[in-house]
Amino acid sequence: MDVLIIGSGGREHTLVWKIAQSSRVKKVYCAPGNGGIAQVAECVPIQATDVPALLNFAREKKIELTVVGPEAPLAAGIVDEFGKEGLRIFGPAKAAAELEVSKVFAKKIMRKYGIPTGEAEIFDRPREAIAYIREKGAPLVVKADGLAAGKGVIVCRTVEEAGEAVDLIMVEKSFGAAGKRVIVEECLQGEEASFIALTDGETILPLIPSQDHKPIYDDDKGPNTGGMGAYAQAPVVTPEMAATVMEKVFIPTVKGMKEEGRKFRGVLYAGLMITAAGPKVLEFNVRFGDPETQAILPLLDSDLIELMGACLEGNLNRVNLKWNEGAAVCVVIASGGYPGSYRKGKEIQGLEELAGEEDIVVFHAGTALKDGKIITAGGRVLGVTGWGSSIEHALEKTYQVVEKIKFEDMYYRKDIGAKALKEIEESYYIDPIEMAQIDSDKRLLGKLKAGHSDVKERRGKFVR
Ligand code: AMP
Repeated sequence: MDVLIIGSGGREHTLVWKIAQSSRVKKVYCAPGNGGIAQVAECVPIQATDVPALLNFAREKKIELTVVGPEAPLAAGIVDEFGKEGLRIFGPAKAAAELEVSKVFAKKIMRKYGIPTGEAEIFDRPREAIAYIREKGAPLVVKADGLAAGKGVIVCRTVEEAGEAVDLIMVEKSFGAAGKRVIVEECLQGEEASFIALTDGETILPLIPSQDHKPIYDDDKGPNTGGMGAYAQAPVVTPEMAATVMEKVFIPTVKGMKEEGRKFRGVLYAGLMITAAGPKVLEFNVRFGDPETQAILPLLDSDLIELMGACLEGNLNRVNLKWNEGAAVCVVIASGGYPGSYRKGKEIQGLEELAGEEDIVVFHAGTALKDGKIITAGGRVLGVTGWGSSIEHALEKTYQVVEKIKFEDMYYRKDIGAKALKEIEESYYIDPIEMAQIDSDKRLLGKLKAGHSDVKERRGKFVR
């Protein structure tokens, strides 16, 4: 079959890379793609949010499956539009995508269905938000309701900072209509983890847990970015924790969305804070994470096209995931200045020499192809991803490759995976969790089993 992938980042390069490996796939198109994707797929100059043009393209080229990378086309209802024309597309419908599109909606769903999350209040007037902030005291987190390209969440150490955040969002309207309402949330303490699952609306198939690194500088200092690196699997999510996340977060969310008449099909992502009181949801996303996908998919042995097909056909209960053993790490190389202003158009050197490297892929994010050369074209430029029998191996290999790549003002974090190495001392390898199935009586049917293989034996595989 011919497949169309929508988007232009490292996540989409990873999806193209994985999907192109499927024996069912003849040709992969990507709209609009980037300099790296252009080397493995045919890039089509259509923006990810131009739904009518994407629809025309899919119709004309007889695309048999379209896969949506970023949230914006999902928010715009691309799945509903393709559905009306009988075109197969992987992702949630607009009504289900609301879980990411509106943090207020997500908060209300979490409250209604008893999903653990931070205590919070919702405001549509700045004065009331500020009165609440004074009453509660700092630290607090102020969140714009709508999509704000990952910038609408402000963690505030003082009451003054929280007041300024409300001003920025509601008065200065820095994120436009996304800031009509705000959520003021308690500041949760703990370690973060990304938990991503595939679902057809009935069965939930969790992928291995991973961890992102949001702040720009080492030791999680500085402003938040789209993500500076990731690793999988994340030992902070122990088998017991994974089972709790399925039971307390994923099953009630998928069931709840069905009850709301917003059946969720596609990728459901929960950004979690693992607190002393258990996992709490920071946010839901309705698509693959970036850069978590770069670390997860190289470990997935199963055919992603088959999995996506099972989601669309409602057959996910018949599928079992197969994983490669070991760990994967993605280190993002960014343009100096990111997430603030940065310059583009710098030639990237060292990529050709990496062609023969084993267990390494350099996923492209902000790159373009110009006169046969790869140049920088965005803030996050490359995601160097390596894998191996342990996280230490994967880290060593990945950083060796990172050091071979050069462009003016390039920047990367040196401590990706450091938390995993610390955890491993007290933790161990997690067998991927088996599926959780929900029947129409909304009971948990099937196995909800986090693997407990021999800890010592597994541990040997994790620690060199
Ligand atoms: P979100 O987009 O909601 O995941 O927020 C982006 C980042 O802000 C998260 O990855 C966390 O680092 C941080 N964050 C969000 N909500 C909270 C919270 N309630 N407590 C502490 N940190 C938070």
